[in-house]
Amino acid sequence: MAAELLRDEILVGGHWRRGTGPVIESVNPATGSVFATLTAATPEDVDEAVTAGLRAVSASGWAEKLPHERALVLRRIGDAIDEHSAEIGALQTMDTGKTLSETTALARSAAGTFRYVAAALETLEEAITPRRGSALTLSTWEPMGVVGAITPWNSPIASDAQKIAPALAAGNAVVAKPPVWAPWVTLQLARIAETAGLPTGLLSVLPGPGRTVGEALVAHPQISKVSFTGGTDTGRHLAGVAAQKLMPVTLELGGKSPTIVFEDADLTQAVAGLLYGIFSSSGQSCIAGSRIFVQRGVEEELVRRLAEATAQLTVGPGSDPRTQVAPLITHSHRDRVAEMVQRAVDDGARLLVGGAPPSDPELAAGAYYLPTILTDVKNSDWICQEEIFGPVAVLLTFDDEEDLVRQANDTIFGLASGIWTSDYRRAWRIARRIQAGTVFVNTYKQFSISTPFSGRHASGLGVEKGREGIRSYMHQKSIFIDTSGEPLPWAADQARASDAG
Ligand code: NAD
Repeated sequence: MAAELLRDEILVGGHWRRGTGPVIESVNPATGSVFATLTAATPEDVDEAVTAGLRAVSASGWAEKLPHERALVLRRIGDAIDEHSAEIGALQTMDTGKTLSETTALARSAAGTFRYVAAALETLEEAITPRRGSALTLSTWEPMGVVGAITPWNSPIASDAQKIAPALAAGNAVVAKPPVWAPWVTLQLARIAETAGLPTGLLSVLPGPGRTVGEALVAHPQISKVSFTGGTDTGRHLAGVAAQKLMPVTLELGGKSPTIVFEDADLTQAVAGLLYGIFSSSGQSCIAGSRIFVQRGVEEELVRRLAEATAQLTVGPGSDPRTQVAPLITHSHRDRVAEMVQRAVDDGARLLVGGAPPSDPELAAGAYYLPTILTDVKNSDWICQEEIFGPVAVLLTFDDEEDLVRQANDTIFGLASGIWTSDYRRAWRIARRIQAGTVFVNTYKQFSISTPFSGRHASGLGVEKGREGIRSYMHQKSIFIDTSGEPLPWAADQARASDAG
């Protein structure tokens, strides 16, 4: 790993320098060993970054640049990310434990995000609205100023790009706050952006604790918007802080997504999809298909096949190309997942498969946990209602569509859902009735930057991705331009008054 990728420096308003906060120890989850230290940012660094961002927006003329001029820089950043995708993937695998195939794919998807946003920006139209009088009426869009981007640890680079690219495209400066558990690729992204020609000071990267650095960013009077991805409790709290400033926020939060297998499904495909839906990324995915619903008629066969296939998944380090289930982000998170499973078992759930760290001594030092399925639970049990954010699914049954829809929608969340059936009319019916931002039919965990993404209820507020993703970082303005030259209604009165005077 190139030493410069792990330099103890953060990016504050165009200056690479040490943070002034606590020291973060970065641990490789596959081995438990510390591979780097980083001095975190503080609220003072936030203030410096925001002030520099405001200065940079006007000094560089970024906000005034024409869309195709900003797009040129964004496209270059996308291409440069692609060129560095192997290096970014290796860095992220070391930091998060994820498989190399996934982290490299995340880097490529971040590159695609910058290029999509560039293309969308060049073709984003403003509107001449229908006339209701003599004025020409226009609806235009303007940058907001400096925006904050707060991201979680589970998909760094992809979640960074999803916020930073559209926010920059919209003509803003960005202060990004990556998580303490995975700060390195966001810093690398900033180096790449700098080299690709992003004006100095437009992007700051301030890794640090949420309670100090994140909180200061959201509360800062000159931050005009915050886009946040993370847990529902944190999102609720941030919405409260933002409400005091009347500041817009986009919140991408947690989930407990139902994946549903009907009796007429292709069970081979369904089993593969269920496994991938919950156990890829070791279940540390907001859209993880963590509540599996099986129609009664295929319960026995599906349970048998699912248990066998789960037990055969390859658990190992993310750097090994054979690995399907890599370690969790930290040992403490792994212990939290294990504790939740144990509590559910104590409350009456039955372990169908998994439920412990792997016994392989070669994996003993890593933050591993076996892919786990719990049965003998009811949808109303806490284990079926709380997000675990680990490789753990609950298995539930249903009789018919009514029973399924009632159970699937009985949750505080509304992020994603999967439907496995060979009847497309049924798929259409159920897709429309499930309360979720995204529904997958006979597939799962497909991502597309050109397709809007959002959560309902406790899963979030606002939309990311797609063309509207850029507009969410802009203010809309209406402009009325008189074209007739006719006297205004009160002009005649004024003329009479001035004649009389
Ligand atoms: P988290 O809420 O603990 O932290 C997310 C980010 O917020 C981190 O950068 C953290 O430092 C920061 N933060 C924490 N407290 C803060 C505060 N008081 N003020 C400002 N910032 C603060 O979440 P996490 O554990 O890092 O991530 C896992 C969660 O993220 C899961 O619930 C998962 O479902 C969710 N997630 C959602 C999506 C989505 O698109 N809906 C995507 C990925 C992850």
